[in-house]
Amino acid sequence: MIIQLEEKIKPKHRENILFAIKNIGYKTTDVKTQKAEYLVCIGKKEFDIRLIGSLDGVADVHRVSESYKLVSKKWKVGYSAVDLGDGVTVGGNGISIIAGPCSIESEEQVQKVVAHLKENKIKIMRGGVFKPRSSPYAFRGMGIEGLKMFNKICRKNGIKIITEVMQVSQIAEMYDYVDVFQVGARNSQNFNLLDELGKVDKPVLLKRGMSGTIDELLQSAEYIFSNGNEKLMLCERGIRTYETAYRNTFDINAIAVLKEKSHLPVIADPSHGIGVREFVPAIALAAAVCGADGIIYEVHEKPEEAASDGQQTLNFAESAELVNKLRRIIK
Ligand code: PEP
Ligand code: MN
Repeated sequence: MIIQLEEKIKPKHRENILFAIKNIGYKTTDVKTQKAEYLVCIGKKEFDIRLIGSLDGVADVHRVSESYKLVSKKWKVGYSAVDLGDGVTVGGNGISIIAGPCSIESEEQVQKVVAHLKENKIKIMRGGVFKPRSSPYAFRGMGIEGLKMFNKICRKNGIKIITEVMQVSQIAEMYDYVDVFQVGARNSQNFNLLDELGKVDKPVLLKRGMSGTIDELLQSAEYIFSNGNEKLMLCERGIRTYETAYRNTFDINAIAVLKEKSHLPVIADPSHGIGVREFVPAIALAAAVCGADGIIYEVHEKPEEAASDGQQTLNFAESAELVNKLRRIIK
């Protein structure tokens, strides 16, 4: 059960509500987010929910039987949108387009991608500076100095930044330079990281783990939300299956199912989803038709020279063509 409290609830009324829940035998977690205060109540006993709904100080109450509660669509009318500032939002209407290289590599590279994004009216740029790599000898990103450079160029050009955070200690040093923290597939169940990102007042894009179920993704999202951060987006980025013809299997089902199970915006990552450049546009378009709130893909001036993930990265011409097709679908 989720109880949303009235904004200026009186202490006496709060006490009454807590007393009533305790009497039913439910365990309560108090959650304060940027938007509201909730009591998440866990228990098995059947009772008449009107008993709670009629108490002073209760703004709303819903029964949610899933293991995830606050991210569930069951208690919320409509869908959530995430505000990135300066009129840029994700979720609600239309499809947000997010593009950029796998890794931030140099000032020149960022300048070129930013120019491409501006030409195509794309307002959010992706790019990793802390890169999770299978091999310790592969390029692991430019680090915080790279982020500062990335930030400087994007700020000047009115572009929002999304970049991956890999560990708790990076949150504070990255904070001033990012607009959205990305949690990568490998950290999808790093519960300490999720807890801390829940205490931050910046949007988070949470990717599905490569062997994560939809239920696990939603429970990971619940970690962030229940720590106080409602500015949350889910991302399908492909899962590991027995198939070897491509890098990952983009789970198109997940887009439709997540939109049914959760009120959070759902973003599709076709680049990692299939991992083969020539098929990325087709998967992006399929995800858009399926109801995705946004598409995040990799683009580079010269994909064949990219420091990471070049094999799944579009060049500028391919990217422009995809954007045109996506915009036609939105219309
Ligand atoms: C990335 O976005 O470049 C990335 C590493 O993604 P994922 O965590 O989905 O593999
Ligand atoms: Mn990548």
